[in-house]
Amino acid sequence: MAQILTGTPVVGGLAHGPALWPGERPDHTPEKLGVGVEIAEERRADEVTRFATAAGAVASRLRTRASQNTGVTAEVLAATAGLAEDRGWIGAASALITKGATAEAAAVAATDQFAAVFTKLGGLMAERVTDLNDVRDRVLAELLGLPEPGLPTPQVPSVLLADDLAPADTAGLDPTTTIALVTRLGGPTSHTAIIARQLGIPCVVAVADLAEITAGTTILVDGTTGRVEVEPDAETARARVEEDRRHAELVAGWTGPGRTADGIAVSVLANVADGSSARAAAGHPVEGVGLFRTELAFLERADEPSVDEQAAIYREVLDAFGGQKVVIRTLDAGSDKPLRFVTHPDESNPALGVRGDRIALAHPEIRAHQLDAIAHAASGSDVAPWVMAPMIASPSEARAFAAEVRGRGLVAGVMIEVPAAAILAEAVLAEVDFVSIGTNDLTQYTMAADRMSADLAGLTDPWQPAVLSLIAGVAAAGVRQGKPVGVCGEAAADPNLACVLVGLGVTSLSSAPAAAAAVGARLGEVTAQDCRTAADAALATSDPAAAREAAAAVLDRSVGGEVRLAASR
Ligand code: PEP
Ligand code: MG
Repeated sequence: MAQILTGTPVVGGLAHGPALWPGERPDHTPEKLGVGVEIAEERRADEVTRFATAAGAVASRLRTRASQNTGVTAEVLAATAGLAEDRGWIGAASALITKGATAEAAAVAATDQFAAVFTKLGGLMAERVTDLNDVRDRVLAELLGLPEPGLPTPQVPSVLLADDLAPADTAGLDPTTTIALVTRLGGPTSHTAIIARQLGIPCVVAVADLAEITAGTTILVDGTTGRVEVEPDAETARARVEEDRRHAELVAGWTGPGRTADGIAVSVLANVADGSSARAAAGHPVEGVGLFRTELAFLERADEPSVDEQAAIYREVLDAFGGQKVVIRTLDAGSDKPLRFVTHPDESNPALGVRGDRIALAHPEIRAHQLDAIAHAASGSDVAPWVMAPMIASPSEARAFAAEVRGRGLVAGVMIEVPAAAILAEAVLAEVDFVSIGTNDLTQYTMAADRMSADLAGLTDPWQPAVLSLIAGVAAAGVRQGKPVGVCGEAAADPNLACVLVGLGVTSLSSAPAAAAAVGARLGEVTAQDCRTAADAALATSDPAAAREAAAAVLDRSVGGEVRLAASR
């Protein structure tokens, strides 16, 4: 029997091929770096120049590659180039060299300083440590005259294994030769995961024992279950990949709109971040936007964008989906998405701090300006946007937000991301026109487990029955009050979980646009009753693996039955 390793499934699909590890990173031993060597005072200025030239060469190579790519890939490469040019980092290294350190030792020490700060900040910033280390190694290789570290070009279609992948590596991948990604570290929202999603190749992260797989070993990667089979039976593996390919064709042919096999409508929507991602999303079979994460449009801003500037950005998103549904979320600043123009208190636990709608406590004007801008964007557009607040914990917060939104003639809703809001869903829903469940944070807070932690990926699994139980309560309240209950966390991107959510009473599903067709195709294969039965089966379990299995058993049986029925006709 094949050895099986498991990790966190990130992008579904099956791939079978030889394992490939990336090339060696430069040697960090003190001798190689020249730690302890003191550069003579008169040579220090030259050493600073040597460092700056190497960093500049790395940045310009990355910029060239960014210009040869488009979309997320180009953005990721440009952001990595920005790290190589970061004045703070270059300044820190130069200061060390000026005190006598070699350029190599200074590159490592300055990176360590920054990595410690990023790690302390946690969340998205902590995930940038991989990017920073990658820039460090590229600069080191440049200084040491070594080839650029990174990925070899596979000779045959291969599965790329790594501890973690830096964006500059993953951005250059070709999905015809790199057929899956598996990493030892990283969370479901890491860069590796984002790029794998964009390339449409299966991806599993946080596989603890990955180092046991040597290069060249044949493996079967299941990006839906997170299983990595080492040297599986070749014939069975090939048959499974073939079946997966047939299913992929079904998905590729799905054009929407979302509905179950018996015709119950479920809106399949996209999560977007700005005008360009909205225009890209409009190319997918989605019926609108279920979550516009407005804060992502302003991450680089040092000062608050004016109402007109904001309105122009919001208008771009509305225009990308003319006449369709668009749900705009007010700024979710703080924690993993700090905004520079919002002063964030020094918090020891930012995920539980002043984030999301709570920034209006100290800065009611920021929320007011944003709502003005949304109203301004909506006037004269053929979309009447729905507006929702992140991180609402109580009915009174929902009431206060709804008053602000309705005062501007807009449709008011809130996100359900905090267990307290889910528990009092009936009262929260009574205050607003709709709710949208943010399963990423709802899972984090229900399980008391950081959503970015690879070590806790088993806990931050949205199939956790405790999370499903909270969702069930919210959806049931929505059904009772006749108000829409959407899901806009990554749970909505998992086809079987999407069916379970519909079975619980959820009325719309919004996620990365690339996931829409798989979700829609799966919904189209099952009936509303199948969804309810699968939901009951999942709710009756007490751990995520059992919930997945119980739902799959119901849904696969149903799909198999349909196929058999069709065959006998
Ligand atoms: C969520 O928490 O599920 C959500 C959709 O919001 P974000 O991922 O932006 O925190
Ligand atoms: Mg959230």
